Amino acid sequence: MKILREQERDTPIAGDSDVVVCGAGPAGFAAALSSARMGARTTLLEVGGCLGGVWTAGALSRIIEADKPGVMAELTEILDARGARADRGSTEFSYDVEMMKVVLEELACAAGVRVQLHTRAVTAQVDESRRLSAVISESKSGREGWTAHAFVDATGDGDVGALAGCRYDYGHPDTGDAQPMSLMALLMGPRIEEIDRFIAGGKPVPRDSAAAPSPSQRYRGGTRALLEEIERAGVKPSYKGPTLWAIHDDLFAMMANHEYGVSALSAGEITEATMAARAELHSIVNGLRSLGGPWARLRIVATADQIGVREGRRIHGRYMVTADDLIDGRRHEDAICRAHWGVDVHALSAAEGGYLSSARERETSGGVRKEVEVQPYDIPLRALIARDVDALLMAGRCISGDFLAHSSYRVTGNAVAMGQAAGVTAALSAMGSLLPHKVPWDDVDAALREIDLRQPTV
Ligand SMILES: Cc1cc2nc3c(=O)[nH]c(=O)nc-3n(C[C@H](O)[C@H](O)[C@H](O)COP(=O)(O)OP(=O)(O)OC[C@H]3O[C@@H](n4cnc5c(N)ncnc54)[C@H](O)[C@@H]3O)c2cc1C
Repeated sequence: MKILREQERDTPIAGDSDVVVCGAGPAGFAAALSSARMGARTTLLEVGGCLGGVWTAGALSRIIEADKPGVMAELTEILDARGARADRGSTEFSYDVEMMKVVLEELACAAGVRVQLHTRAVTAQVDESRRLSAVISESKSGREGWTAHAFVDATGDGDVGALAGCRYDYGHPDTGDAQPMSLMALLMGPRIEEIDRFIAGGKPVPRDSAAAPSPSQRYRGGTRALLEEIERAGVKPSYKGPTLWAIHDDLFAMMANHEYGVSALSAGEITEATMAARAELHSIVNGLRSLGGPWARLRIVATADQIGVREGRRIHGRYMVTADDLIDGRRHEDAICRAHWGVDVHALSAAEGGYLSSARERETSGGVRKEVEVQPYDIPLRALIARDVDALLMAGRCISGDFLAHSSYRVTGNAVAMGQAAGVTAALSAMGSLLPHKVPWDDVDAALREIDLRQPTV
């Protein structure tokens, strides 16, 4: 490969904070909010044009493991108050993507977080004591330096950890393959009553409770019926478990494609996958519309700006969450939350047939382990603290864990809990002039308990 040698240059320092959080997905948002509310001067850098990551730019529309106290409970209450939450299940719900965007902005602003959108972290500076001392970003403002006492990598893909030289894992331990990507779409046209039997979850159709299917009957019945309907329209979706969530009576989110073998670390591959996925979603919706009946007015309101990336780097931390933690339901003294979502490995190739999930029913891919029966397990703070570099925490899907454990803990209710703990620890480390791994667990625990008791502020 030909290379260009870049010239040395001076980069202006745009901000000196107590805590810099990179990436504003569910984890990064919660980290910045919690850090700022602890009184730490907090900067949040996000490459996209809104806060929320997969929740908003990714149009995910569904939160799993939402039964977490603190920031997650607060968000739930605010979404309820604004009529933006459907299917008020205690552990899972659907939400209005556009409302989520504005709520996150309001909360971040009210807490005094310095937010800079359209800004990507591209370099990390590590000093001779192996301490992360600055992150450099690129944006319309050019290259800018951001110094802080502590940093949180909430980029999903572990960009900051990798830039700082941390070791990491990626994909399946044998093949390196990562789970497929999916592009979400928001749909309108039919009313919920017209397409009820194709809906896997979200807002229920009003009916007497005896006639209502259980959540799992609704899920299985909905995905099966939708697959048959798409196939009846002459389209073979790349994902064999296409899913429709009802957000309102007339607004639905659809997940119906898998892009296999795409590296989360290649802009070229992600671009190709995004365009292929968008084309496929349009072809599915055009196909359904051609069936007429309840589908006659079906339209895509928007496809996500950001294709959904299930897996990126898993940065090595001071503890690695493994499948054994899940099987044994391990407890830890420094538990920042208890997770319970099953092992959720989508097929790694088209040949595997679209979906391998909740390993109770199917083998997990690649034969790493069959039949993973998940017991509720703890995520310890140590899995959020980088091992190879000091002053760096991780939150969200880039924390330290193995392939199977990641497929369980990555869901966004857990990402919020991780962000909350990382933000609190980063703030305490800055305020006490300690490195994150030196912050006494009792102090983190006490601060997290206080957050759990908070009332909504907007
Ligand atoms: C298709 C799909 C379906 C899923 N289904 C569900 C579901 O139903 N319910 C559920 O709860 N979870 C679901 N998940 C899992 C969940 O979405 C992720 O694991 C979750 O996004 C983790 O949150 P995060 O904050 O770590 O990452 P992300 O949401 O990916 O956020 C990372 C943020 O960092 C930003 N960023 C990235 N690199 C940089 C950089 N270098 N500098 C600055 N900013 C950067 C990104 O723009 C993004 O905003 C699904 C995931 C996918 C992909």
